[in-house]
Amino acid sequence: MSIEHGLPNDFCPKSYDALIVGAGYAGAVCARSLAEGAGMKVAVLERRPHVAGNAYDRTDDAGVLIHEYGPHIYHTFDDRVHQFLSRFTEFTDYQHKVLANIHGTLMPVPFNHRSLILAFGEEKGERLYRKLVATFGENKKVPIMELRNRNDAELAEVADYVYENIFLHYTMKQWGKTPDQIDPAITGRVPVFVGDDDRYFPQAPHQGMPNEGYTELFNNMLDHDLISVFLDVDARDILSVEDTRVLAYGEPYGGEVIYTGPLDELFGMDLGALPYRTLDMVFETLDMDQFQPVGTVNYTVSEDFTRITEFKNMTGQVVPGKTTIMREYSKAYEPGSGQTPYYVINEPQNIELYKRYRARVEDVLNFHVVGRLAEYRYYDMDGVVASALSLSDQLIDQR
Ligand SMILES: Cc1cc2nc3c(=O)[nH]c(=O)nc-3n(C[C@H](O)[C@H](O)[C@H](O)COP(=O)(O)OP(=O)(O)OC[C@H]3O[C@@H](n4cnc5c(N)ncnc54)[C@H](O)[C@@H]3O)c2cc1C
Repeated sequence: MSIEHGLPNDFCPKSYDALIVGAGYAGAVCARSLAEGAGMKVAVLERRPHVAGNAYDRTDDAGVLIHEYGPHIYHTFDDRVHQFLSRFTEFTDYQHKVLANIHGTLMPVPFNHRSLILAFGEEKGERLYRKLVATFGENKKVPIMELRNRNDAELAEVADYVYENIFLHYTMKQWGKTPDQIDPAITGRVPVFVGDDDRYFPQAPHQGMPNEGYTELFNNMLDHDLISVFLDVDARDILSVEDTRVLAYGEPYGGEVIYTGPLDELFGMDLGALPYRTLDMVFETLDMDQFQPVGTVNYTVSEDFTRITEFKNMTGQVVPGKTTIMREYSKAYEPGSGQTPYYVINEPQNIELYKRYRARVEDVLNFHVVGRLAEYRYYDMDGVVASALSLSDQLIDQR
């Protein structure tokens, strides 16, 4: 692999079999798969000064490994994804746990046996728990809608508590909504866990953090003789789509193009901008070993921020006397402002707008879209890897 900042003067798109826009999971997985599976010579164009997309991590001034674009916890049910990624890193055995800070009391999320006792006291909490076990069985995730459907005042009380204290204010902060704007179908799906397991992903067979961090995972994945990475390069300065053709520097380009950036940007947002939520991430280094007991504490009833992450609790890194935490403030994304578009706003009018952009590239046979931005959908890391592997399979089969 070679990694350069900027493009060399003699950069010639036609000397590559594939141009890949974006060095996040979508782009990097395709680059590796096409280089390895089809012997294709690949150029990856990335406009940020680093690889790894939103999974990028780095060591801060205090020596703490931080996730620059928000905490990333790897978990997957997909064996193929796990086998693929495991070629480029080993994973720690970290098991993610989340607590909610409810008026100063830290309760496990999803709401479970221990949360019931913390919320309702020892005696009532136990009684409610026994009722939940008798009604639904143990080690079950039960949506609060089902608690309400039982026509039982006590189960409804649990549902109301969870709705009010875990879900409502947090969701309003996260999505900038009022209660009546929150889809009742989503509200009803908020789970209560009837059991003691306080892990966030109790069922995931593969879970952990990359031993040396995500950026190192990407460096290893992109380390291949047929892959060249060019950072600080906005692909829109080179590539465009016109009718059914891809142009590179205005000339038809016949290789494969894998585009993992936002589709509206590719067309100058001429139909309007696709809406997103963005996040202000405020990092703070403290002179202490540990700030909070787990990686993530959600602030579900108070504060302007949604959650605090303490990275050392997730990575297992030992840095005596120092820890770095990060508060997340959610707000509307302003297109063209330089903010990072983080979360797709999954509403019908936005999906419609996306489809209109998507229709413009549908007949461009050598132009492929993959990833959270290009597909305008929320993906966990493993989902993006699976999609990128599947697209690569198709392209390799075609050759
Ligand atoms: C706050 C937050 C927390 C998350 N936490 C988790 C988690 O705990 N677990 C989990 O599994 N997933 C998590 N995710 C999801 C995860 O970040 C995504 O699944 C993953 O990053 C998607 O990879 P991608 O390649 O599609 O997109 P990205 O990682 O966004 O990569 C796309 C890349 O394309 C580049 N690009 C775009 N346009 C251009 C252009 N014109 N020219 C050149 N380059 C361009 C961008 O700079 C970017 O680097 C989280 C997401 C967010 C926002």
